Amino acid sequence: MAMECTRCGACCVAPDIAALDKPLGMRCPHLTADNLCSVYERRPDVCRAYQADDVCRLIDAPTLEERVGKYLALFELTEEARAIRQSGCSSMRKARHG
Ligand code: SF4
Ligand code: SF4
Repeated sequence: MAMECTRCGACCVAPDIAALDKPLGMRCPHLTADNLCSVYERRPDVCRAYQADDVCRLIDAPTLEERVGKYLALFELTEEARAIRQSGCSSMRKARHG
């Protein structure tokens, strides 16, 4: 179902985004403190194509941290994200190839 984006920021933190070399669960470096995209005019196609949907409603929570946690749990990626965090990986290339 189509939904209005509330600019909650979760989709710029939770998923891995290959075009940005962004690992799972890590904040996109282009996301501002207000959860806005600082490169909006030149954001990658994958970000342009992203549409708010039911997931946004399902992960709704008071804080960004909670929303990201719910997003990862929804897609059963909590453990994978934890492992990436623990290994201190700052990029997807590193996360994948060690
Ligand atoms: S998770 Fe959904 S509501 Fe939040 S910023 Fe992304 S598209 Fe918008
Ligand atoms: S480039 Fe912009 S829209 Fe894409 S994940 Fe980063 S902050 Fe979000």
